[in-house]
Amino acid sequence: MNNTREVEVVVIGAGQAGLAGAYHLRRSGFQPDRDFVVLDHSPGPGGAWQFRWPSLTYGKVHGMHALPGMELTDADPARPSAEVISAYFDRYERTFDLRVRRPVDVRAVREGHGGPPWTEPVGVLGGGRLLVETSDGVWSTRALINATGTWDRPFWPRYPGQETFRGRQLHTAQYPGPEEFAGQRVVAVGGGASGTQHLLEIAAYAAATTWVTRRPPVFREGPFDEDAGRAAVALVEERVRQGLPPRSVVSVTGLPLNDAIRRGIEDGVLDRQPMFDRITPTGVDWADGRHVDADVILWATGFRAAIDHLAPLRLRGPGGGIRMEGTHAAADPRVHLVGYGPSASTIGANRAGRAAVRDIRRLLEREPAAA
Ligand SMILES: Cc1cc2nc3c(=O)[nH]c(=O)nc-3n(C[C@H](O)[C@H](O)[C@H](O)COP(=O)(O)OP(=O)(O)OC[C@H]3O[C@@H](n4cnc5c(N)ncnc54)[C@H](O)[C@@H]3O)c2cc1C
Repeated sequence: MNNTREVEVVVIGAGQAGLAGAYHLRRSGFQPDRDFVVLDHSPGPGGAWQFRWPSLTYGKVHGMHALPGMELTDADPARPSAEVISAYFDRYERTFDLRVRRPVDVRAVREGHGGPPWTEPVGVLGGGRLLVETSDGVWSTRALINATGTWDRPFWPRYPGQETFRGRQLHTAQYPGPEEFAGQRVVAVGGGASGTQHLLEIAAYAAATTWVTRRPPVFREGPFDEDAGRAAVALVEERVRQGLPPRSVVSVTGLPLNDAIRRGIEDGVLDRQPMFDRITPTGVDWADGRHVDADVILWATGFRAAIDHLAPLRLRGPGGGIRMEGTHAAADPRVHLVGYGPSASTIGANRAGRAAVRDIRRLLEREPAAA
């Protein structure tokens, strides 16, 4: 006999999305260890927040929504968000007894017995199970909440000559804070929130900074109200309904024109240059003959969904993304993606966690477990 353990639901990831899912499972009467498990490969609580750079203080993080059922109160805005949020997630896990298992790396999710091809309309599962293969053995489950975020899949674009560069190249995922760049010439790539935040910090230390982005940045005047938020989410939602790879919600909201950004524009730190055409051993070149010397190229070029472990389920369609219906894959109602596409924000993850559990309860009630 093998030692595969059986549960009703496996939650992969204990960031905002996974914990929101686990909380709603608990509230719906699912017992940790007996009915569901939460698996996470990071060393401690906090999801991706635990890895964010020390200068990203809690005061600089705008729009962080509390997890369901427990407010984050009295946080010191001067403390690194990595510390504040990890401590809060830790408290949360203990308060609701979520029993996150870590570090457990999920390597693959495969079809178990009784799965597709469906003999009935989607939703009639015949007790089909999924097998979740991990660094700590195999779990057999009737439903999955995949909440693995994007932090583990930094996106590095490729440019000619990149391998010849003699300086240092790093991604936002490795950004150590600005001090390390003292006296250096830094080229930062990327028009999102991370790129601009890095540049504004680094400019105080570096010998020179250059900002390049593929498209001209879109600055957003005025407050980002609920209507604008809904419109942005709807755009990403439409993409995943069509099976296209999701864009981040932030990428469709534009950059808020706050005081720091205004100052950066006035000081020339945020003087955006178009994307360079080539990387040389000493810097970057444009086709029009311009060259900028650089010691560092900082790629603030975003992240992609960390879902390679789902590849055996063949959920990706011809559009390159997973076609979604609500929070589950259109092709498989057992597989929920929370914190993916339109729910890739702290508030979106909360809502999607609740919606996924509601759907899973219905699914499990409708589908008696296989004998
Ligand atoms: C720099 C930065 C700042 C941001 N600021 C804000 C903000 O102010 N407000 C906001 O709403 N959103 C913000 N976001 C987006 C926000 O972080 C996310 O929407 C949300 O926190 C992500 O939660 P998550 O649970 O989906 O992912 P994560 O927090 O990334 O959690 C995923 C978890 O899954 C685990 N995992 C991944 N793969 C595996 C695997 N194969 N096996 C086991 N475990 C695995 C990881 O260890 C991790 O703990 C920011 C993002 C970035 C990059």
